Amino acid sequence: ATANADLAALIRTIPDFPKPGIQFRDITTLLLDAKGFQASIERLAAAAPDGIDLIAGIEARGFIFSSALAAHMGKGLVLIRKDGKLPGATIGVDYTLEYGTDRVVMHEDACVPGQRVLLVDDLIATGGTALAAVRLLRQAGAEVIGAHFVIDLPDLGGADRLRAEGVAVTTLVA
Ligand code: 5GP
Repeated sequence: ATANADLAALIRTIPDFPKPGIQFRDITTLLLDAKGFQASIERLAAAAPDGIDLIAGIEARGFIFSSALAAHMGKGLVLIRKDGKLPGATIGVDYTLEYGTDRVVMHEDACVPGQRVLLVDDLIATGGTALAAVRLLRQAGAEVIGAHFVIDLPDLGGADRLRAEGVAVTTLVA
């Protein structure tokens, strides 16, 4: 079986992307590796809590892992997107970035109040994106029973911020 250390070795770091000074964790090399990609999904599934009604994925790289996980686990998938992409009536949450603000939205009828949702993204850094997604799902009446990420950047504190909001966090590699 592929160990988490092997998964880490499949993720490459590209310096100065998208801006000078940023060390970008590039998952495309993990996706290219059949066994590594499969192992990442199996590990996310193995850590999943019982009683999941739906998986929620965050645009765009989060869609890759969330959709594979949803199909693997036999669950439906909610898309959490940047504003302006979803065709139906949406609800949204604004959140602050280092420079400016952003907004995540979902279809207002994507989940039924009380449904238990597992949130998935490729990476958690400051946690701003995931926290906005948690607020959005809660606004829709969902219970966020966990948040899974392939990569954690622990120095940026996002996983701790999510835990402080009462969300169980699982990450595969740091
Ligand atoms: P946060 O909101 O936690 O600060 O940033 C996490 C979000 O930004 C995730 O949706 C993730 O896809 C993206 N992101 C930020 N930095 C990186 C990175 O170095 N590599 C990848 N793959 N995504 C990143």
